[in-house]
Amino acid sequence: MESTANLLIRNARLVTPTGVRVGNCFVRDGRIAALGEVKSPGRVPELDTDGRYLAPGFLDLHVHGGAGADFSAGDPDAARAIAAFHAQHGTTGLLATIVPGPRDRMRRAMAAAVGVPGVLGIHLEGPFLNPEKAGALDPTWFLPPSRDAFRKLVAGFEGAIKLVTLAPELPGALDLVAEIGAIGAVPALGHTAATFDQATAAFHRGAHHVTHLGNAMTGLHHRNPGGVGAALLSGASLELVCDGVHVHPAFVRLVVEFLRGRGELGRLSLVSDATAPAGMPDGSYRLGDRDVHLQRGEVRLSDETLAGSTLTLDQAMQNALQLAHLSLEDALTLVTANPARVLGLDSQLGTLTVGARADLVLLDPDLTVSSTLHRGEITSRGS
Ligand SMILES: [Zn+2]
Repeated sequence: MESTANLLIRNARLVTPTGVRVGNCFVRDGRIAALGEVKSPGRVPELDTDGRYLAPGFLDLHVHGGAGADFSAGDPDAARAIAAFHAQHGTTGLLATIVPGPRDRMRRAMAAAVGVPGVLGIHLEGPFLNPEKAGALDPTWFLPPSRDAFRKLVAGFEGAIKLVTLAPELPGALDLVAEIGAIGAVPALGHTAATFDQATAAFHRGAHHVTHLGNAMTGLHHRNPGGVGAALLSGASLELVCDGVHVHPAFVRLVVEFLRGRGELGRLSLVSDATAPAGMPDGSYRLGDRDVHLQRGEVRLSDETLAGSTLTLDQAMQNALQLAHLSLEDALTLVTANPARVLGLDSQLGTLTVGARADLVLLDPDLTVSSTLHRGEITSRGS
């Protein structure tokens, strides 16, 4: 959806990389053309924000669904509905995250998501995963790592696939790490029983992201520091599902304080891991070919296994801000600049700077989303 929107956004609290300051934001041809004391260039629509925060739109590396719909179903209308739902919560870019299934179905899901406004690409959460750490994913469809299986799965979608989660301890997985990198995607550890040494070896071989840190991986034990220990000590970027359910609030604080102490908060991205029930009433929904049930704000399989979340990034940011005593600027980087950097898009997205794409969010003083703009056009108002 290319647009050539011009807009003068007035009287905003601009959340820039160098702090919050009051000013205007001039959008020309869908990009930020000027910030600060910008005068009206005339004959340009104006939007007075009443002093609201103007921040970059949120970026979510891990979204399965929302508004009742599931990316893995392979329906373009459903894909559009999911992106529109998350846009109401400030997310202007997301990775459509596809669960293991029959190859044809996974490929249909990729085709349905590619080109949908707000979908930045595909996150393949599998199928080269460890059945011991399946979580809510269906291990029936897990595959042993193989270059041939990978090439057949991704053929024709190489440019769209941005992230691939795999279990590095499986035989042949380390060879796939290079293969994933070769198509320009980020090789990520997840749904893995890797020991500390196995995970560390994968980071040395080029894996540089960790899918939902702490979930579906080996934990931090003092004699077996596990995948979590290896992830923290690596330079890899880390995802956290900060919904108060997937990880303990103290774990959020431990991770944030550890990274902040090393000056590495830039490695952390909050993700929603949202599934179809996000934004919906209690009931039963689908994740791939499985039924998932929403009750009391938690999404689970019939056997009580957690099955993603109902989280959206506006809420994730507020949770992190409170749990880990972050400043607004720091909390915002966890849903903007940091995920942009994972994708190599940090000069274009996730930053309020001149030249960046005008994918923006206006936040009320209590940080609820007031409106969302794609390339300078208002696409949704609040939720
Ligand atoms: Zn997931």
